[in-house]
Amino acid sequence: MITSRPWDDDKPHEECGVFGVWNAPDAAALTALGLHALQHRGQEATGIVTYDGQRFHSEKGLGLVGDVYHDPRVMAGLKGRSAIGHNRYATTGETILRNVQPLFAEFEFGGFAVAHNGNLTNAAGLRRELVRRGCIFQSTMDSEVFIHLIAMSEYSTVVDRLIDALRQVVGAYSLVALSNEALIGVRDPLGVRPLILGRIGLPHEEPAWVLVSETCALEIIGAEFVRDVEPGEIVVIDDRGVHSIKPFGAAKPRFCVFEYIYFARPDSVMDGTPVYAARKSIGAELARESHVAADIVVPVPDSGVPAAMGYATESGIPFELGIIRNHYVGRTFIEPTDHIRNLGVKLKHSANRAILQGRRVILVDDSIVRGTTSRKIVEMVRAAGASEVHMRISSPPTTHSCFYGIDTPEREKLLAAQHDVGEMARLIGADSLAFISINGLYRALGRGSRNAASPAYCDACFTGDYPVPLTDFDKGGSRQLSLLEEISAV
Ligand code: AMP
Repeated sequence: MITSRPWDDDKPHEECGVFGVWNAPDAAALTALGLHALQHRGQEATGIVTYDGQRFHSEKGLGLVGDVYHDPRVMAGLKGRSAIGHNRYATTGETILRNVQPLFAEFEFGGFAVAHNGNLTNAAGLRRELVRRGCIFQSTMDSEVFIHLIAMSEYSTVVDRLIDALRQVVGAYSLVALSNEALIGVRDPLGVRPLILGRIGLPHEEPAWVLVSETCALEIIGAEFVRDVEPGEIVVIDDRGVHSIKPFGAAKPRFCVFEYIYFARPDSVMDGTPVYAARKSIGAELARESHVAADIVVPVPDSGVPAAMGYATESGIPFELGIIRNHYVGRTFIEPTDHIRNLGVKLKHSANRAILQGRRVILVDDSIVRGTTSRKIVEMVRAAGASEVHMRISSPPTTHSCFYGIDTPEREKLLAAQHDVGEMARLIGADSLAFISINGLYRALGRGSRNAASPAYCDACFTGDYPVPLTDFDKGGSRQLSLLEEISAV
């Protein structure tokens, strides 16, 4: 009898940060530093697996990188010149230790660790099939299917087995993996999630190689940028160097546009475009599209800052820090219940009354998801004496859930899926509300208007155009089907 969903105590969607290093002294310390730079991609849990030429070592914990790896005894156990690491981000359900990556397994060919950023959209079906074939899952994560598909593969080398596994999964993923012989990086065929190759060492020295989710993790360890791992590419790094394999047919890349809008750190460069410049340019385009007379432009910190700078420069309206952020609380979105989320917004932002009093204010933020943040911020700015509050958003309305690794709530909870812009303005209490248009967003990123037949980015959260099939999800793309629903739909 089937009594529960496969993901009974957690949610498979998560946005995460991954890091890998091959052939470096202090590999574990470099990994901890890299994960620290990638902390914004996941704050719930973190893990490192190292390999010392004979054994694999693993340390994982719930919480921030600095909390888990502050103890020198923990770091001392992570021996070896190669390592991979992961920061986990999931917004609902329990984060339990067995769900913390990297995942590790002993195979007939040796040890194998894998860390995953993204989300598989056919993991539930694969998992059911694997369970039927006798696999015993240790976690509730979609990523664990990689381990079992590799174990079941009839190929002999680890890379062949990995390719065999990758041909069976559907989704958006960037992987770093570590075996006895190599550090491996993989980017899904559409390159929805980022992955970057870097190197440490002078040109005449034997290099250490690194794989990172974002370039900001190269800076912190003094590594140089080599290149983006290409969509659909596998890079195998061993003592002979870096080898590239492209086992999938050619596809037009669809990098996630929300990485530019919100997720990536502003000092990172994504697929050749600096995120900071992209955000300023989006802000400038937003000002051209939705001008309004006002006295000051105020960002919702921190994520709204570069777009607000671009807006202020383009409109000629002074930029002011009318809201001050308290940095010692986590991202609001991460708190699991509406009640806590409401409290979180108050903890996180304070009105700078001296700046706001009697002013007509343009507030700039990157997105409205449930509307919780905007509603609280508008209320706070008014309470501080602003005479008008105009909200400007540097993304188009978020009308669809993401199934490719950025956690968004079910469609029903997305404010823009339920209301038009006028109603949204009323609900958040703003005098006016405007979002950048989808064509404006593409223009700001230097792509001209959006080509509907072949868009340059994955923009499914704004358009509902999902480039990777949503096998595990219902047709409206709003939620994962339960096992019982799936079975009755057959
Ligand atoms: P909400 O309060 O639900 O409307 O969420 C919007 C706020 O959350 C904005 O201020 C964003 O900066 C932030 N945000 C948007 N998407 C995400 C995400 N996937 N994870 C964490 N925070 C987010």
